[in-house]
Amino acid sequence: MKKLVLILSVVCISLTALANTPCKGTTKAGKPCASVIVDSKTGYCNAHNPNRVKCTGTTTAGKPCNMVVMKESKTCRLHVKK
Ligand SMILES: [Zn+2]
Ligand SMILES: [Zn+2]
Repeated sequence: MKKLVLILSVVCISLTALANTPCKGTTKAGKPCASVIVDSKTGYCNAHNPNRVKCTGTTTAGKPCNMVVMKESKTCRLHVKK
């Protein structure tokens, strides 16, 4: 059963990629995002997904980390607070 679910999700992902619907978000330059790899539920690509936020951690250079993470986790794998 697990295998079937896996196959179905792979098919779903490839269908989403083939749909060629660009992301609804806008880039930093104010232009519409050209990414076609979007989440079918939100219509946004990974970078513009409202359910995702930037990591709140800082890099070793002291700069804010730009990794995009899920809202619930707040930090990327590198900056997980233990
Ligand atoms: Zn986008
Ligand atoms: Zn981080």
